[in-house]
Amino acid sequence: AKSSGREGFAFYDQEQTEYARQRVELIAGLRHALENGELRVHYQPLHCLGDNRMIGVEALVRWQHPQRGLVPPGEFIPVAEDSGMISAIDAWVLEEACRQMVAWRSAGRSLQFVAVNISSRLFSRGELDQRVAQVLTDTGLPADCLELEVTESAVMDDPDQAQALLERLRSLGVRLAIDDFGTGYSSLARLKRLPVHKLKLDQSFVAGLPHDKDDLAITHAVIALAHNMDMKVLAEGVERSEQLEHLRQLGCDYVQGYLLGRPLAAADLHLG
Ligand code: C2E
Ligand code: CA
Ligand code: CA
Ligand code: CA
Repeated sequence: AKSSGREGFAFYDQEQTEYARQRVELIAGLRHALENGELRVHYQPLHCLGDNRMIGVEALVRWQHPQRGLVPPGEFIPVAEDSGMISAIDAWVLEEACRQMVAWRSAGRSLQFVAVNISSRLFSRGELDQRVAQVLTDTGLPADCLELEVTESAVMDDPDQAQALLERLRSLGVRLAIDDFGTGYSSLARLKRLPVHKLKLDQSFVAGLPHDKDDLAITHAVIALAHNMDMKVLAEGVERSEQLEHLRQLGCDYVQGYLLGRPLAAADLHLG
């Protein structure tokens, strides 16, 4: 047993080395991707439940890898986050999404805004407001045509700093949404003071609707909480029409999910 234990250890060690090697390769590949234009932005519709209209789109990054094809963000965002490259990726997506939104507007599309994800890294750096102001100036996009999505955990990580930054962003005129709401630990007293327009209810709660009692209770509570604080609620990950109908009955404002549309390249998206 002792010798097999030692072999097990050696095997584990080898796995660690392999893992580290892959990680280094991924970081180098990602840097190359950013410099050589291999990143793409796809856009997923956000719908208003009241009149069923598409009000906006969320920008979601992909990597068009020369060998591997279209790589989803789940496979490179985590590494980009701990290597610090995420800030450069987010800045690129922000600019690209703003340019695309300007193009849609000049083509007469009725979209109100484009939503962009901001990683906790970029958010915690503090000078995000200057960067956003610069991108708006460079692209000519009106501030209220841009929504920034910051995760609940990024905000609650350092609530004082987050509050100050959100207020500076708010005074630029951009829209603000708390992403993946319900998965972090919000202080309700804090939440109430945040200058935020929208809570995005995490898809893990929507998944169990309408049969899971806990998910139903949480969805109900989040909608009531948001409305009491003069915020709107968007439910993520809506895949079935029975979920949609339930969310409508519960008074949810907006929905996003495969039922309404998958993320697509700008050229493939059907806009009114
Ligand atoms: P997220 O911000 O919560 O984005 C929603 C994710 O849910 C997207 O996955 C979207 O494709 C997926 N989704 C939408 N509707 C449905 C549905 O009905 N069912 C299911 N099962 N999934 C649905 P995606 O594009 O793979 O992105 C995953 C995550 O990667 C995002 O989660 C976000 O955290 C991160 N991400 C994507 N783009 C960026 C970016 O430009 N910057 C940063 N910092 N993070 C990004
Ligand atoms: Ca998001
Ligand atoms: Ca989310
Ligand atoms: Ca998520």
